[in-house]
Amino acid sequence: MSAHSDSEIWAAVAAETERQERQLELIASENHTSQEVMDAVGTTLTNKYAEGYPGRRYYGGCEHVDVVENIARGRAKELFNAKYANVQPHSGTQANMGALMALCQPGDRVLAMSLDHGGHLSHGHEKNFSGVFYDFHSYGVERESERLDMDQVASRAKEVQPRVILAGASAYSRSIDFAAFAEIARENDALLMVDMAHIAGLVAGGQHDNPVPHADVVTMTTHKTLRGPRGGLIVTRDLEVLKRVNSSVFPGGQGGPLMHVIAAKAVALREALAPQFADYARAVVRNAQALAGSLSERGLRIVSGGTDNHLCLVDVSPSGLSGAQAEDALHRVDLTCNKNLIPYDERPPMEASGVRLGTAAITTRGLDEDDMNTLAGWIAETLGSPEDESMQQRIRGEVAEMARAHPIYG
Ligand SMILES: *Cc1c(COP(=O)(O)O)cnc(C)c1O
Repeated sequence: MSAHSDSEIWAAVAAETERQERQLELIASENHTSQEVMDAVGTTLTNKYAEGYPGRRYYGGCEHVDVVENIARGRAKELFNAKYANVQPHSGTQANMGALMALCQPGDRVLAMSLDHGGHLSHGHEKNFSGVFYDFHSYGVERESERLDMDQVASRAKEVQPRVILAGASAYSRSIDFAAFAEIARENDALLMVDMAHIAGLVAGGQHDNPVPHADVVTMTTHKTLRGPRGGLIVTRDLEVLKRVNSSVFPGGQGGPLMHVIAAKAVALREALAPQFADYARAVVRNAQALAGSLSERGLRIVSGGTDNHLCLVDVSPSGLSGAQAEDALHRVDLTCNKNLIPYDERPPMEASGVRLGTAAITTRGLDEDDMNTLAGWIAETLGSPEDESMQQRIRGEVAEMARAHPIYG
């Protein structure tokens, strides 16, 4: 690498690399990409304007980036068994903008999972484009089981008569029945959009049912369980939907694509097509189940009683803490996570009653089920005595030792 002159920025980058190596990352939406993915992001492709799509660009000199984008599309289609792919969305939210603009008109009704029960802000938050331009209505999880109840979704669909039903979540630990969603959409003359941002890597690795055969359009992020660069992706099996998506992504919601990021998406998609990625996805779920199991053995309450995917939601209110206080306490022992509302939470979002814990990143660095048991012990101790500084110092040392034994980038 060339010598860098911007010492302020490179010092912060070095500190961030050191932080990732030293702490254990439990934020469920994060992961550690491969060096090859990061190398692709740092290439000359960042210099290139390529508005349009391969073969139909508004700029000259696109012959090489066309190769990159076509490869990325081909790999996305193969990985998710889709007929068509758009690899240009800059993020998951931009992918959702592209999909919603393709499926409906401003003012149309959309039925999505309640943000308070695990939905994403791009599923109708009043300040997000989605809530500003569309008429969002919500379904939630059932109070006792804390799981989606498809009868309730069906009755909400009947009441609301939405143009689009949106399935997918940011903080839901159970499998989602996409076939049942498709059935409800059909019965109510609605289109089905699935946002699999969190679970795309699990779908790729065969650990969650693939929504592509059931949905009119499927959006995702590439940087969560899929372990690629930050970005979005849209796949569909319907040519008419693809045409509308292509036009709503560019020129609808974006200008020039980030070709360096698309190259990195292609690299990540190739990694996800390799047989080892299925082993990774399996290990992610096993670790999440081990972590949730060990935490509940230690008296913590897991929302819905467990997990089928890469994350669990821990209700910390029985320990007398808010989610914000729990997040802070865990941060002090170098375990990074985020506070999260639990279903029917009585606290406001900035306090919340839960924390969301994910295993995608720690599985990438090689932690196994025994490590999950150790981790659960640290979490339970920390939340049990959030003011005990000497205990926190000891745990921080033990966390550092485990992290050192599992370097991310060596
Ligand atoms: C993370 C997430 C997104 C958006 O991702 P960004 O890249 O941050 O815009 C969209 N939908 C769901 C369900 C998510 O979890």
